Amino acid sequence: MSKYWDDFTKFSQPTVAELKARAKQSSENAAKKNLAYEPIEPFTRRQICTSWWGKAWCENLERYADYESRLDRGRRYVKNGTVLDLKIKKGKVEARVQGTRKTPYKIEIRISPLSEEKCEAIIEQCGRRIENMESLIKGEFPLDLKELFLAKDGLFPKPKEISFNCSCPDWALMCKHVAAAMYGIGVRLDENPFYFFELRGIDADKFIGVALESKVESMLANADRDSERIIRDADLTELFGVI
Ligand SMILES: [Zn+2]
Repeated sequence: MSKYWDDFTKFSQPTVAELKARAKQSSENAAKKNLAYEPIEPFTRRQICTSWWGKAWCENLERYADYESRLDRGRRYVKNGTVLDLKIKKGKVEARVQGTRKTPYKIEIRISPLSEEKCEAIIEQCGRRIENMESLIKGEFPLDLKELFLAKDGLFPKPKEISFNCSCPDWALMCKHVAAAMYGIGVRLDENPFYFFELRGIDADKFIGVALESKVESMLANADRDSERIIRDADLTELFGVI
């Protein structure tokens, strides 16, 4: 009986050195099998994310009491390089996270697509300034979108819009491996905030096309108004005989 509990304690709390050694071994095995892992590299900086978008993602996660109990361990896991692979695909994230067992755990996180209403709000916000469109075309994330992310009903997913599973035997609501992958998403957003579109099931190219079209339409509509005004001014000039 005591042996069972000893094993259990060891099973639930691997040391950092153990985790790192296993992670290294698993990465080497994956490379031998030609598996294209895309790791979250280990790091020592205190904050997980450094860009506005990455930080905002982490803050969003930390806002929900549902996740609170596992986030600390998730932070430790991601910092120590246990997220061996993390790929953001349309509406989902697939990850491999090293845990106590030799074989890394397989994780899938699904995120609901952004509502049409919110997509339209982004298009509208992007259309407010020509600089936003220029940013999108250059592959940059428009800074004006910050407002929408920070709004009460922001653009990052809420717990009810996120579902996940992990191949580990932890029955908690969110295991530390999923928590590590959640932080890994923040690191990816640091690298490229455009991943946001993928995460929320939006085809970025199509989205940019629609945003551009709507901007051009509104510019043309304004141009029509301007030319009408010019004509009106011309009429007035004629009327008053002012030349
Ligand atoms: Zn797990």
